[in-house]
Amino acid sequence: MAYSYEAPVSQSLFDRASAVTPGGVNSPVRAFRAVGGTPRFMVSGTGPYLTDADGREYVDLVCSWGPMILGHSHPEVIAAVQEAVSRGTSFGTPGEGEVALAEEIVARIEPVEQVRLVSSGTEATMSAIRLARGFTGRAKVVKFAGCYHGHVDALLAAAGSGVATFGLPDTPGVTGATAGDTVVLPYNDLDAVRAAFAAHPGEIACVITEASPGNMGVVPPADGFNAGLKELCAANGALYISDEVMTGFRTSKAGWYGVDGVRPDLMTFGKVMGGGFPAAAFGGRGDVMAHLAPAGPVYQAGTLSGNPVATAAGLAQLRLLDDAAYAKIDVVSAELRSLVGDALTKEGVAHTVSAASNMFSVFFTDQPVRDYEDAKKQDVFRFTAFFHSMLEQGVYLPPSAFESWFVSTAHDERAIERIAAALPAAARAASEATA
Ligand code: PLP
Repeated sequence: MAYSYEAPVSQSLFDRASAVTPGGVNSPVRAFRAVGGTPRFMVSGTGPYLTDADGREYVDLVCSWGPMILGHSHPEVIAAVQEAVSRGTSFGTPGEGEVALAEEIVARIEPVEQVRLVSSGTEATMSAIRLARGFTGRAKVVKFAGCYHGHVDALLAAAGSGVATFGLPDTPGVTGATAGDTVVLPYNDLDAVRAAFAAHPGEIACVITEASPGNMGVVPPADGFNAGLKELCAANGALYISDEVMTGFRTSKAGWYGVDGVRPDLMTFGKVMGGGFPAAAFGGRGDVMAHLAPAGPVYQAGTLSGNPVATAAGLAQLRLLDDAAYAKIDVVSAELRSLVGDALTKEGVAHTVSAASNMFSVFFTDQPVRDYEDAKKQDVFRFTAFFHSMLEQGVYLPPSAFESWFVSTAHDERAIERIAAALPAAARAASEATA
């Protein structure tokens, strides 16, 4: 595909990066390999906008893959960070900020009686699984194809996100022994979960699922799916782990739990709760969390866990996320979904705008998408054309057809108008694209 626009400064930075970093990036999806072209090196962000190294401004619909729910450089978050930094950046001791952040999480999410702070979503899911295994004394973990839980060895089987983007079935480096304890099932299929419990009696430590998946594109749980998982886990002595790294504090004040009310045994969080800094968490039932060191025998630790700057940013962001903020995000999301759907319909492009609360993505197919297999049947080449047209017109979408789009409270009428103005040409490009 030829691109009619250039990004010479980004390109020269990418050349430098590629010399010293594998693929030129520190997280694969950033490299634009699924869509081609030069990844944009961003230099600043304000509200709903990002500015790249070539001085071009974009309306941002990635929001750092979820965290920037108040937009970029929110003055109150920046002030909280500056205040925290002025007192020092890391102490390696307990501090009040981490207590306040834990209290905020416990207050918002009723099933979380105790919480442990970590530095990334990957660390949160990895630790939650270790805890589930330690608590139950069982080895096997059930996960769903297309769900991504970070790059935890045991969870990289049939994962979504970057693994979906690159079409990798698995990844080298994960041993057969590790993967052998992971049971991968199709999403939204309770019969498959029933069969797995029947096939492995007394062996399954936990079922982990994205509370509402956003890493194969947005594929919400079918009615009763999460409740069914919870029931099957309870009936079989396994823990139900709801991964809310993406949905937590985004899809409502209490994340996806606030939407479907299904009570997990353990939950994982990240993204929004760090305010753009590396902060994440796992938490849940008090009797399970009591097994964690130093209260209990399951070891888990981190030099920068509960970092004072990260917790200050996260706390400031969460405190600004009141009912009005979520109402605003819901409106922006609904408006964009209808604009995108209308533009694609007008050009006769087969598509499905799939939403879960304010998270959404577009599948370039008119067939229902209930699981990863369905998601993979879309016309990815149409997304590619759509993506580049939007980019050229100053709208930054996730550079993959298998990722959620994210909006923020900062997406105002001006930002939405700019997106609306870009959509007709992008829809036309999608319609004219060839495989
Ligand atoms: N779980 C889910 C649902 C995610 O979406 C992600 C990241 O996208 C992770 C876990 C891993 O989080 P991190 O990238 O912070 O390690």
